[in-house]
Amino acid sequence: MHARVRSLAAAAALYAASLLPAQAELDAIALKKAIETSIASDYPKLDALYRELHAHPELAFQEVKTAARLAAEMRALGFDVTENVGRTGLVAIYRNGDGPTIMVRTELDGLPMEEKTGLDYASRDKANWSGREVFVAHSCGHDIHMASWVGTAKTLLGLKERWRGTLMFIAQPAEEIVAGARAMLAAGLFTRFPKPDIALALHDGPFAHGTIFYRSGVGTSAADSLEITFHGRGGHGSAPHTAIDPIAIASRFVVDVQSVISREKDPTEFGVVTIGAIHGGTVGNIIPDSVQLSGTIRSYKPEVRAKLHAGIERTAKAAAAMSGAPAPDVSILEGTKPVINDPDVVAATAETLKAAFGDKFRVSPPGTASEDFSEFAGAGVPSMMFNIGVYDQQRIDAARNGGPPIPANHSPQFAPVPKPTIETGVTAMTLAVLSAFDQKARRKRD
Ligand SMILES: [Zn+2]
Ligand SMILES: [Zn+2]
Repeated sequence: MHARVRSLAAAAALYAASLLPAQAELDAIALKKAIETSIASDYPKLDALYRELHAHPELAFQEVKTAARLAAEMRALGFDVTENVGRTGLVAIYRNGDGPTIMVRTELDGLPMEEKTGLDYASRDKANWSGREVFVAHSCGHDIHMASWVGTAKTLLGLKERWRGTLMFIAQPAEEIVAGARAMLAAGLFTRFPKPDIALALHDGPFAHGTIFYRSGVGTSAADSLEITFHGRGGHGSAPHTAIDPIAIASRFVVDVQSVISREKDPTEFGVVTIGAIHGGTVGNIIPDSVQLSGTIRSYKPEVRAKLHAGIERTAKAAAAMSGAPAPDVSILEGTKPVINDPDVVAATAETLKAAFGDKFRVSPPGTASEDFSEFAGAGVPSMMFNIGVYDQQRIDAARNGGPPIPANHSPQFAPVPKPTIETGVTAMTLAVLSAFDQKARRKRD
């Protein structure tokens, strides 16, 4: 290159670098327009897909038809699709030259509950769940995620000249029982397929559509399950002195375990212990031999989690010892870790989404629910999950002013407004993926 041209080029590059934030904003706004144009022509198909998925949900690890439907959609777009990764999971790969691999995850599963939305595309389907016939409903909005996922894939292919690298779109089974992510990892998700440089996911929630919530660092809680059996000695209800009453022991435990939260845990740290089920005895005049309790334990920090586990175990043993009962069986099953949103990924993605969505893109406090998207970060992939709203603003305002309450995820009335919700899902996720490719390309240049 000629010296003068080189110095001009260097000056131009410096000028461009000094303009980078403004330039990024302009890009995000222009890209958002291009994405919206693309969605406008694709939406009727996405709407049909959404309604079909909504009307025919399937339970954890039973998502056979759902997975087949998504596989067909992705093959039609030109993705290389592998089915049955982690039982019903699927992996769709699209290569577009040299560059990073960006993963986008959707969930496949619905919930064992009856939908009561009254929508004309409401689910009336039933399935077998732990030996019982139950209704099935997409009351967590995983159908919104799937439609947005397909829409994002389609939109990104239309913008193929804007990015270089590999798209890795995965559809994960069994999120509701926090088992599907691990099943896919165990089936070689990051060994049979490229290990992604960045992983992204979205989740819908009960706030206004068009609004997006995000946060850096801890996004959801760690969830562990708790099973305790208190052993006593059965006997006649009229002669408690001849027996050891496990109902009294279990009752004491249910109350006392809350002092692990209120008296042992740092009050400024998040932690929950909920006993959700208690089973023991048959009739009023028999003291049973044993009582079973089931519960859930939620936390954000490993040290709080360890403290809760130890406190629960100690309280259970003490409750039994006080009554001269044998030691209880306490089993704490590790569920899933908190979702940790990678600060670098969030900072760069937030820059793009903030430019595109303005004050509709907002920081949220961490949620108390849990999510096995955390498993992918746990496997070493920097990741980010953000939330999109599903309801009309008027409905939110009415609820705030004493009107009917807003049904949240897992409510039988949970009913997203499909069009604006899916449009936001596709737009935000497409921009997040483009930003992820850009982050990696920039880091390589630095
Ligand atoms: Zn859910
Ligand atoms: Zn969910």
